[in-house]
Amino acid sequence: MKYDLIVIGMGPSAVFLAYELIQKNKAKNVLLIDQGKSVENRYCPMEKAGKCLKCKPYCNITCGFSGAGAFSDGKLNSYHLSSRDKDGKIYLGGNGGGYFREYYSEDELNELLTYTDNIYLKFGADPKLKGTEHIEEIKKLQEKAFKNNLNLVSFPIRHLGTEKAHILYGEIEKYLKEHNINMMFETEVKDLIIKNNTIKGVKVHHIKENIDEELLSDKVVIAVGRKGASWLSEMCEKHNIATKIGSVDIGIRYELPNKVMAKINEYMYEGKFIGRPYPYGDKVRTFCQNPSVFVSAEVYDNGLTLVNGHSYKDRKSENTNLAILVSHNFTYPFDKPIEYGENVAQNLNRLGGNAIMVQRLGDIYRGRRTWEEDLKNNSVRPTLKGAVAGDLTYGLGYRTMTDILQFIKDVDKVVEGFANPDNLLYGPEIKFYSNEIILDKDFMTSIKGLYSIGDGGGLTTGLMMASCSGVQMARILCKK
Ligand SMILES: Cc1cc2nc3c(=O)[nH]c(=O)nc-3n(C[C@H](O)[C@H](O)[C@H](O)COP(=O)(O)OP(=O)(O)OC[C@H]3O[C@@H](n4cnc5c(N)ncnc54)[C@H](O)[C@@H]3O)c2cc1C
Repeated sequence: MKYDLIVIGMGPSAVFLAYELIQKNKAKNVLLIDQGKSVENRYCPMEKAGKCLKCKPYCNITCGFSGAGAFSDGKLNSYHLSSRDKDGKIYLGGNGGGYFREYYSEDELNELLTYTDNIYLKFGADPKLKGTEHIEEIKKLQEKAFKNNLNLVSFPIRHLGTEKAHILYGEIEKYLKEHNINMMFETEVKDLIIKNNTIKGVKVHHIKENIDEELLSDKVVIAVGRKGASWLSEMCEKHNIATKIGSVDIGIRYELPNKVMAKINEYMYEGKFIGRPYPYGDKVRTFCQNPSVFVSAEVYDNGLTLVNGHSYKDRKSENTNLAILVSHNFTYPFDKPIEYGENVAQNLNRLGGNAIMVQRLGDIYRGRRTWEEDLKNNSVRPTLKGAVAGDLTYGLGYRTMTDILQFIKDVDKVVEGFANPDNLLYGPEIKFYSNEIILDKDFMTSIKGLYSIGDGGGLTTGLMMASCSGVQMARILCKK
């Protein structure tokens, strides 16, 4: 079979690419491939079973139509509506939107973000924005943060919630089907077919039928998300696709009472603290803050279990959770950030008997592990049922741990109670990006006809920017 375009992955970046091609009448012979299932067939058994069952062959939380978006918290960051930072630029998420900053003006970014946001609204996103009503209070918090060497970034958020995200992406899936986008589910892309530095197609394995096949196209878009970061790194090495050493974000999921986070939750919904704590000056940030929610687990390549957060529109807990992530940027001669992160995750998984490990902050200060008994008597009740009490300091490096503990102390000066001993740390929380793929202005890699979008190649770090990258990819392809 020869297609006009093959897209590897069906996360938000790929889905928005297909949507935009339909708008431009250029979606006749397009194929999307994903190793996971369609939205209606994706189901995470953890809630019923009480622990992660490590679904085979692929985790239902991260794989399938709409990728990691389907079970995400569904917080759409309205960056374009944010108050600008001091140089007047739009904040563009965790990695700062390096590519977009380089090639797009503020006006172009504004248009792209507004357009993409409107697609979400068209498919049922909540028109109400959170984080827009308490501007003066937010300013005061930002000033307090600034005095304590922290940056507190604020922008409005459109919150879907996990159930709504599922429904919304289900509607988009229907729309793509109605417009004859070809979708192959439960199909792994094993390899790229490249000849004379030019893409020719992909080699796939149909999981259910146990059949291998070659599918041809002169244009292939890689949209494999963080789930595919490790596979993508392998591809880059095997086919000499140009990359620069990327970073890996390693840290923990932090759980504390809503009461402590009340102001941030009320005024901003999600507060993004960014600091460079003493003594290393590494970038440490909070990410994916969820009020009244549940800590969750998800399974990645090689069976690695990582922690995350889930929020439901209708089911609430008394706790807030957020990630505290330390950016690890390695220097010569080490160039394997993904392997480093995988080793950290593997050690922590082993120490936790293949489950997520949880420890009280107070126990870390006292130099002791946490026991199940301690959790029973703890004022903060863990919301991840299958988490195993233990000692994270055996698995996280000294530098990472020091960064996290100092950062917690710094934030405590802005949010009283942030460093309470009963607060819980879960690990490992790791955000893998493949080594950053070097792209030209048209998202093309060093291989002719091979493009990369979304989180996998290190271009974006969230739903909104991943979706924007898909829309923009479609616009670029239509011009060719
Ligand atoms: C629990 C959770 C909560 C989140 N909450 C938020 C949030 O509130 N707000 C926010 O902005 N972001 C959130 N995120 C992150 C967000 O989901 C991602 O940024 C976004 O989904 C990235 O989109 P993507 O298209 O780049 O890739 P993904 O969504 O990761 O999709 C990649 C797809 O590629 C497929 N794939 C990978 N390799 C292959 C292969 N070799 N062959 C076939 N298929 C392959 C995978 O199965 C997957 O379906 C959350 C993520 C998780 C896991």
